[in-house]
Amino acid sequence: MTTQKRLDSFYQRLLTQWGKAHGFRPLCELTCRNLSNSFGATQARLTIAASSGWQLLLKMDDSGIHYQFPPKPLNNSKQLQSTRALRRSLEQQGQLIRLTLPLERRGEVIGLFTIDFPEQPLPSSQEFSVLATLLAAEIDSGQLSENIQREHHSRKSAEKELEISQQETQQLQEQLQALHDISFKLWRASSKDDMLFTAVDEGKKRLHVDRMAIFLFRGENRMQGTYGTDIHGNTVNEHYFEREIPDLWFTQLTQDRTKSEYLAIENNTPLYHDLKQVGFGWSGFISLWDGDTPIGWIACDNLLTGMPLRSYHQQILKQFGFIVSQHLVRRQAEEKLLNLNKELERRVCERTAELERVNRKLKAISRLDPLTSVYNRRVFDEKLNEEWRRAERHQLPLSLLIVDVDHFKAYNDSYGHAAGDQCLKIIANTLAGLENRAGALFARYGGEEFVLLLPGQDQSAARYTANRAIEAIQNLQLPRTDIRQEGPQIVTVSIGLSTLIPTQETAPESLFKQADIALYEAKSSGRNQAIAYS
Ligand code: GH3
Ligand code: MG
Ligand code: MG
Repeated sequence: MTTQKRLDSFYQRLLTQWGKAHGFRPLCELTCRNLSNSFGATQARLTIAASSGWQLLLKMDDSGIHYQFPPKPLNNSKQLQSTRALRRSLEQQGQLIRLTLPLERRGEVIGLFTIDFPEQPLPSSQEFSVLATLLAAEIDSGQLSENIQREHHSRKSAEKELEISQQETQQLQEQLQALHDISFKLWRASSKDDMLFTAVDEGKKRLHVDRMAIFLFRGENRMQGTYGTDIHGNTVNEHYFEREIPDLWFTQLTQDRTKSEYLAIENNTPLYHDLKQVGFGWSGFISLWDGDTPIGWIACDNLLTGMPLRSYHQQILKQFGFIVSQHLVRRQAEEKLLNLNKELERRVCERTAELERVNRKLKAISRLDPLTSVYNRRVFDEKLNEEWRRAERHQLPLSLLIVDVDHFKAYNDSYGHAAGDQCLKIIANTLAGLENRAGALFARYGGEEFVLLLPGQDQSAARYTANRAIEAIQNLQLPRTDIRQEGPQIVTVSIGLSTLIPTQETAPESLFKQADIALYEAKSSGRNQAIAYS
């Protein structure tokens, strides 16, 4: 067959086969096979110019055709010729003839195809320029579509990454929102107890944790349950639970003051309920701190759903521990303050009651005459004014008796001051019980003088009362031999009495003045008698 005929049938077959082939790899392989069949080609290399350098895409040798994708970068410097230096050529290379076909596209060399032939005659290199053009076009479109595909791929994976990071961001945001909501609810809790219940209940619901329990440390080395979760997931009161702080895998870690570590988490660990193992999963212990003092634990795990530990769990649980610690410390301080306030209030109440008692006593004392324990002059003055106004309003009589012990100076002189005091007490006691009618007031006016105010009593009623008083003292039969007087040698009193219906022109003092004048009369006309002012 002539060279020309071989060339024609080569191109014909090639184009027919290319038309049926799918993809660049079969095109290359078909090309090599046809070059081998038609012209006895024994070796071939197809290299591609990439931005990073030359890359080997296909190699044919004795062992067969080897297509490799992605193409392998070549460090071999011989291949890294300047693209300008590449010329289509057909040259003798030792025993072989090498056809070099630069593959150009838009004036740029994008690949290099070299084929070695062992025998002559061969078509000129010019005859293979069509093959070079076809291959270049295929590589170009292949690269284009590859680029497009690569771009498509990278856009896809970027989209996927974006989606994942958006999901993560959203999850994190949801968790942060959950923490915020929980914190708000903890604020609103009505008491420390309610706060602890809310922390456990909401913590589980909002932070994707199956079981949660809060333990608080008390005293030296003990811990007490507060609220926890039963094996059905319900939040339950666990205050009954009290024991020594156990030495478990997380104990040291979460209680080390120097580290203030907030979270110990372990995967694939035994899970317990009431100290009995009930399953396997992840388990976390978040420590609660007051400053650098550990005050308790929040225990949590995934016993019920077996849901795996999420990447955000650690951070969120730490934050949760922080929030619960803060609320706990605040509530405890509040409780302490409240108790302190209650104690203070109790003490103030006690003191107030005591003061009131003392005050009442003082007030009572300030109204009583210390020697005789009857009302003193201050009370009499108040009462006189009060009754004066009342009598004036109702236009009723008001009577006053001034009682004065007779010759009392002499009594003192003879029997001594102490005996005088004793005598005054007896007289006061006797006269105080004389008149029980409402409004009547008996008082010591001063020295050995007493007064008896009789609201509503007219002169005859007052005179009657006065005579009863004279008699009452006489009846006491208090002996005295220090003075010469008519009748029995006893202590007597004289009384001046006065009665007025108050008017706007008169004053209470006038009542007293009149009684005093009457008393003077009683004294001067022999004592031991009552005389009314007239
Ligand atoms: P008359 O019959 O005129 O009233 O004579 P009198 O001596 O009672 O009157 P006077 O006013 O001269 O004396 C009153 C005496 O009362 C003087 C004082 O020693 C005595 N006296 C006043 N207050 C007390 C007191 O609290 N205790 C005692 N033991 N004596 C008192
Ligand atoms: Mg007197
Ligand atoms: Mg007297």
